[in-house]
Amino acid sequence: MQTNTKPAAKEICYWPYSVNYNKETTINTDVLIIGGGIAGCHAAIAAARKGAKVAIVEKGSVIRSGSGGAGVDHWHCACKNPCSKITPDEMVETIETARGNLFTHEYGTGPSFYILCKESYDALLDVEEFGIKIRDVDDEFAGADFRDEETKLMFAYDYKNRHCIRLAGAKIKPALYEQLKHQGVKIFDRVMTTSLITEEGQQGARVVGATGVNVRTGEFFLFKSKATILSTGPSLRLWVFSTELTGSVDSHEDPNCSGDGSAMAWQAGAEFSLMEASTPSAGGLCYPAYGTGNAHNTWFACTLVDSNGKEIPWVDRDGRMLKTVSERYRPAPGQKLIYHGPPPISNEIQGPRLIPDLPERILKGEFVLPFFADLPGMPEHERRAIFGLMVGNEGKTRVPIYENYTQAGFDPDKDMLQANVLPPEMAGKHIPYWNGVGPPQWRETAFGGGGGLLYDWDLRTTLEGLYAAGNQLAGGGNHAGAAATGRYAGRKAATYALNAKEPAINREQIDKEKSRVYAPVNSGDGIGWKELRAGLTRIMQDYCSVAKNKEVLQTGLQWFESIRESDASMAYARNPHELMRVLECFSRITVGEIILHASLARKASSLPLKFIRLDYPETDQPEWDKFIVIKQENGVIKTRDLPPKFWLKPPNAPTYKENYDRHSNL
Ligand SMILES: Cc1cc2nc3c(=O)[nH]c(=O)nc-3n(C[C@H](O)[C@H](O)[C@H](O)COP(=O)(O)OP(=O)(O)OC[C@H]3O[C@@H](n4cnc5c(N)ncnc54)[C@H](O)[C@@H]3O)c2cc1C
Repeated sequence: MQTNTKPAAKEICYWPYSVNYNKETTINTDVLIIGGGIAGCHAAIAAARKGAKVAIVEKGSVIRSGSGGAGVDHWHCACKNPCSKITPDEMVETIETARGNLFTHEYGTGPSFYILCKESYDALLDVEEFGIKIRDVDDEFAGADFRDEETKLMFAYDYKNRHCIRLAGAKIKPALYEQLKHQGVKIFDRVMTTSLITEEGQQGARVVGATGVNVRTGEFFLFKSKATILSTGPSLRLWVFSTELTGSVDSHEDPNCSGDGSAMAWQAGAEFSLMEASTPSAGGLCYPAYGTGNAHNTWFACTLVDSNGKEIPWVDRDGRMLKTVSERYRPAPGQKLIYHGPPPISNEIQGPRLIPDLPERILKGEFVLPFFADLPGMPEHERRAIFGLMVGNEGKTRVPIYENYTQAGFDPDKDMLQANVLPPEMAGKHIPYWNGVGPPQWRETAFGGGGGLLYDWDLRTTLEGLYAAGNQLAGGGNHAGAAATGRYAGRKAATYALNAKEPAINREQIDKEKSRVYAPVNSGDGIGWKELRAGLTRIMQDYCSVAKNKEVLQTGLQWFESIRESDASMAYARNPHELMRVLECFSRITVGEIILHASLARKASSLPLKFIRLDYPETDQPEWDKFIVIKQENGVIKTRDLPPKFWLKPPNAPTYKENYDRHSNL
């Protein structure tokens, strides 16, 4: 056993854990869950409830890992709650009409969105059973406009239709963690999975497990499984890397979500879709989320006033001036429902908002910056719902915002909170992460996911034995979506595993992966992970930014290839933590390449995908209203298209409900 790490680079780095590189442990299980975030935990619980032996592997620590690890305050599309006036089918039809055929970015794609609408409330009842407060049991909000007196459920955004539920979800991960233990799920914390194992080592064959490395001890793990669920979240921070602006501002979502799951599935031969979609990112140039005054999302629909105390008016989607606060939470006359989500929002689901001509009126001097969130001016229930229920339970806000501000003396009954001063054209807008703007070359794979694995109505990927859930899926999703698709994939994978034959492992495949994984430990004079990663983000910024064309994208691919062969092959790791970071860089190269290849394959510009090709400037041509599907076979890129709503075309049934009834395996 080694007791310290090899001094690979010049200096020795102190490391507090015993290091045991190459020591190999084999785990056998029916269902292997890769990524113990929201989707992974729900998947593990569902699979265990079906009677399968389940193991969960998590790069961080399941008790708080993932983007949902710090909490949740609103639970989307709970269409089956007893107060909802919208059925799952109505919700899907409305969102589909509103977002178009390529609907993505927090909306998922067809099947995952339908599964969300069908099972969101069931998943919420599950977490209530695990100890999370989803009702106002203490009657703190008795009589509030957003509360149902009988069930004590509380709603957000659309008080008429009541499909989004407010909850006290700050401790949701510890509750899920306890339930995993209760169900007998084997938990492997601090193990980063590095590759998928395929039957007989053949690319494109049945997936029969995964390899992993402990990020503290460096030990190697071989997980053999009859079914595997990938739930490692989206591939984040490909464009921006900031070591100075860390903590709650560097990135909105979990920094461990570096695209490893996608890179592993790509190497195994799985197909992907929507990988060309991306969205602007504020990177580190923002304030801690929900820590400045605003009127969106968690702070919806707080009154804003200008520096003279003049209130910014609200209008409904048709531009009708709203006179009361209560009207901000209701659809316009004749409007079916409001769905509060990221822009662009179409008219069908656009909710009340601050006057859209606010920028011009600021420039004319009618409203004077800076603005303030006027919590004292809000009705008492709404004030306490925002700065209490919501900010007290939303991810990353309980301690840095709610507790710290309160301890520092901030009193929502008396104090206003200043909004950050944005350029007038952005004032009052629900911009991504609304609390900051980055330069145009900073992008992100989209809050909620964007591109991901292609899947069918079983949430199975294109590889036998491999299922996916949460933001790993093409189209991504939100917290409730991760919970709903997790429990669905868990059921499906367990049923498959309980009838599947034993995995046939190829030792050569494992040994090859072992040498790849430990290469940075044995490397001498290369570069460290930070330098490597900074270089990779430059490739994405320069060659996959707003200004894309064939030449630029191809140059980006050449750069990735060159860096893979030179700097990446010599990158060093002085301890298991650095090893994880270097391996993440390798994943980032692979995911960057997938994005560039997918971007080359879409020879058209698309507004829904926020995708602009300078050499194909016309936007949204009907013949490009289709999905680009991409995979590699022995290093050769293969693409194909799928038509809009391919999930309702043969061999699938013609309606959402029929497909769900046929596959859901309840
Ligand atoms: C601050 C914040 C607030 C939010 N609030 C809400 C809200 O109120 N409502 C809502 O609907 N949504 C909300 N979201 C979004 C929601 O949290 C995500 O949609 C949800 O967590 C996605 O679940 P997931 O399981 O796909 O990914 P995650 O929960 O991020 O889980 C992915 C897991 O995979 C692990 N992992 C990654 N790579 C590896 C590897 N190689 N090996 C092993 N494990 C790996 C990660 O460590 C992580 O634990 C919020 C997100 C953030 C960041």
